[in-house]
Amino acid sequence: MERGRRAGVPLGSEAQVSSRNAGRAVIQALQRDLASRLGEQRLQVDAPLAPLTTFRVGGPADLLVEPTSGDELTVILERAGALGVPVTMLGGGSNVLVADGGVRGLVVRPRGGRAVEMAPGQVRADAALTINGLVRWTIGHGLAGLEAWAGTPGTVGGGVYGNAHWGGHLISERIHSVWLWSAAASVVEIPASDMAFGYDASRLQTSGEVLIAARFVLDTGGDPETLRATARASLAYRKRTQPLDTPSAGCIFQNPLPEVAMPQGIPRSAGALVDRAGLKGARIGGAVVSPTHGNFIVNTGGATASDILALVSRCRAAVRAQFGVELLDEIVLLGDHDRTAIENYG
Ligand SMILES: Cc1cc2nc3c(=O)[nH]c(=O)nc-3n(C[C@H](O)[C@H](O)[C@H](O)COP(=O)(O)OP(=O)(O)OC[C@H]3O[C@@H](n4cnc5c(N)ncnc54)[C@H](O)[C@@H]3O)c2cc1C
Repeated sequence: MERGRRAGVPLGSEAQVSSRNAGRAVIQALQRDLASRLGEQRLQVDAPLAPLTTFRVGGPADLLVEPTSGDELTVILERAGALGVPVTMLGGGSNVLVADGGVRGLVVRPRGGRAVEMAPGQVRADAALTINGLVRWTIGHGLAGLEAWAGTPGTVGGGVYGNAHWGGHLISERIHSVWLWSAAASVVEIPASDMAFGYDASRLQTSGEVLIAARFVLDTGGDPETLRATARASLAYRKRTQPLDTPSAGCIFQNPLPEVAMPQGIPRSAGALVDRAGLKGARIGGAVVSPTHGNFIVNTGGATASDILALVSRCRAAVRAQFGVELLDEIVLLGDHDRTAIENYG
C-alpha cells in the first residue's frame, strides 16, 4: 500500500536526469536560461531548504527560484519542462518533510501573491498568498467564511494541493474554481467539481499540474469585528492544543476515514490512536512525538529527516499492532529520502 505522499510535482521525467552528471548539465542549462530572463541573482544553486520548512529539516535543492508573479511562475515552469528538469513546488513548507539529501532538480517557491475581489463575494487568491494573509484580507473586506482558518500555516497553493481542513471543514468548500498550469494546456480555469477534492486530497497530487490561483466564494456583508473575534478564538484554540513553539509540520497522519473500523472508546483521530498506543513523548534522535498533541512530531533540535521517518514508522507500527488501524500520511515527502529509512518506512 502507498502510505507516503512521496512526490512534489514531477513535471520533468526523472529518467531525463538519469545520471547525476547529466542532471547537473541540464540544471546548469536551465540556470543560464532562467538567469537570462529573470537575472542571475534570482537563482540559488545548492540552496538549503531546511530554513524554508516549518520542520527545519532537510538538505539542499539543486536549484531554487522564487517567482513573484504568475507570469514569472509560468515562464519558469515552461522552461524547466522544455529542458526536462524535474520541478518540485514549495509553498510555506508547512506540510513537507524534505529528505536529508535534499531535492534534485528545480524547486519553485512562489512568493508574494495577492487577493482581488472579482465579483461580490468572489475572491481570486494567488497560489503564493499565505492562508493567513488571505484570512486577514477577507476579514478586512467584510467577507465571511475563512475567518476560522486563522493560524493555518502555509499558502493557498499548498492548501489546495492537500485540501487543508479545519474544524470539520475542507478549504475546498469555499473554492469555486482554480487556475492550473500544465505543460499541455498552459493556464486554464477549471471548476472545483473537477478537482477530485476529498479529505486531504486533490487532483494536484497525481496530475503534476501547478496551482496558479484559486477563486474563493465568500459571504458578503460580514462584520469585520465579529469575524476577527472568530479568528482570535481559532488562534487561541490552536495555542492551547498544538506545540506551536517547536518546529513541526503539523499533523503527521490523516485521521481515519469513516469507513475505517475504530477500536471502542477511541475517537476517530490519529492523535488519539498514537496517544493510546503510549507514544506521546517517544524520541528518535532529535524527533519527539509531541507530549501536547499525539499527531505532531516535533524537531527538538538537530532532528534529521531519517529520525522523523523512523519515528513515524514506529507510531504507525504500534497503532497497527495495538488497534489494527493503518495510519496514512498527511505530510508529503519531498526529495531522495534515505533508502534504509524508506525501506523500513511503514
Ligand atoms: C503548526 C501547524 C499547524 C497546522 N494546522 C493545519 C490545519 O489545521 N489544517 C491543515 O489542513 N493543515 C495544517 N497544517 C499543515 C499545513 O499548514 C497545510 O497542509 C498547508 O496547507 C500546507 O501549505 P504549504 O504552502 O506550507 O505547502 P507545502 O508544505 O509547501 O507543500 C505541500 C505540498 O503542496 C505542493 N504545492 C505547494 N504549492 C503548490 C502549487 N502552487 N501547485 C501545486 N502544488 C503545490 C508541494 O509540492 C507539496 O507537495 C499545519 C502545519 C503546522 C506546521
